[in-house]
Amino acid sequence: MKFTDLGIITPILKALAAEGYTHPTPIQEQAIPLLLNREDLLGCAQTGTGKTAAFTIPILQHLFNSRNDYKGRRRIRSLIVTPTRELAIQISENITAYGKYTGIKNVVVFGGVKQLSQTNALRQGTDILVATPGRLLDLISQGFITLKDVKYFVLDEADQMLDMGFIHDIKKIIAKLPVKRQSLFFSATMPSAIINLSSNILGNPQKVTIKPKQATAEKVEQAIYFVSKPNKTKLLIHIIEANPEASILVFSRTKHGSDKIVRILAKAHIKAAAIHGNKSQGARQRALGNFKKGTLNVLIATDIAARGIDVEELSLVINFDLPNIPETYVHRIGRTGRAKSSGIALSFCNVEEKAYLKDIQKLINQEIPVIREHPFVDDEIEETPIPKKPSKNQQKKTQHHSKKIKKEGGNTHKKKKWRPYSKKRYS
Ligand code: AMP
Repeated sequence: MKFTDLGIITPILKALAAEGYTHPTPIQEQAIPLLLNREDLLGCAQTGTGKTAAFTIPILQHLFNSRNDYKGRRRIRSLIVTPTRELAIQISENITAYGKYTGIKNVVVFGGVKQLSQTNALRQGTDILVATPGRLLDLISQGFITLKDVKYFVLDEADQMLDMGFIHDIKKIIAKLPVKRQSLFFSATMPSAIINLSSNILGNPQKVTIKPKQATAEKVEQAIYFVSKPNKTKLLIHIIEANPEASILVFSRTKHGSDKIVRILAKAHIKAAAIHGNKSQGARQRALGNFKKGTLNVLIATDIAARGIDVEELSLVINFDLPNIPETYVHRIGRTGRAKSSGIALSFCNVEEKAYLKDIQKLINQEIPVIREHPFVDDEIEETPIPKKPSKNQQKKTQHHSKKIKKEGGNTHKKKKWRPYSKKRYS
């Protein structure tokens, strides 16, 4: 199938050709005709599938076709809400690229920066607004934005919105939208909280799921290194030195952890930068810009900051820490092996993370191959069995027992959380 078979208008086809897109990706092939037909959409798709084009192309087309219905200053007829600033900027750049021959305008607003340039842009009028939830509500309350003309609403990366605690903001935004609208809802995963949220948003009860459950980016080659915590940075240096040309994105679970990795790499004369929520917007954009340009080969990121990263030549993703939420692993490895290219994702696993690895392999329904040929291999980690989680019944009994002791004025020490490995044994 070609883009010309999807009923897309010439100015957009011309822009897609200029981007070098020849064939639609599966999500584009399925979603574009439905959206041009004004259906609501529930899209289950992970990053790298081409979903941004899947939703922006039909919106641009609807707006272009109705451009003469409105006189005077442009009104916000489409609202796209996305969790992070990086993602918002990226969506806006894509709209500008796909819509460059349509005359349709977009403005992007996000928090963490002064609002003046954003309010100035809004004053000029716009057809599409791309926004993160907090800044959007803030600007609505100050009277800079009204959503009363919105006809096309997109909620992007809904599961991430929930993880970041945006649920109340989202509900407030929805309450301000006109009832008559086309709604698009995208999420990489579809847990029940997301299904519930989607049923509040999709005004038209006819829902369409693009992919019922996306496991893992098939194109990504994956591997595991069993390595002790203290040896992780040594292994990282070893891998970076073995791949001097590669663009490497390293995931760290914490902000502090990512800064520490940058410092250790600097001592080994490896230039790297960290992006996370404590860095200023300017520092984040600079690091990301250098990484995209290829002047910086190693970027260390936390999950939230990395959400919007779209680097064409990203060859390697390294999970310095394994995530405790298995879906996060899928998001992370989705950063490489994007629409055009294939990629590699390597994960470091210490003994405490073996339980996470088990959950990840269960989710993606495949066993990740283990690399044993490296200087920091730790056989003991691989051989150590994962302790069984206590059953719910056992947990209840323990709780009951400790409550009883407390009631009787006995030992009132805090209830211990179950951990797969006792720290004593392995620290
Ligand atoms: P997304 O999932 O929207 O973040 O898109 C992932 C990447 O695929 C981006 O770099 C897009 O520019 C690219 N892309 C989207 N659609 C196509 C297509 N039909 N052909 C080639 N590349 C595409």
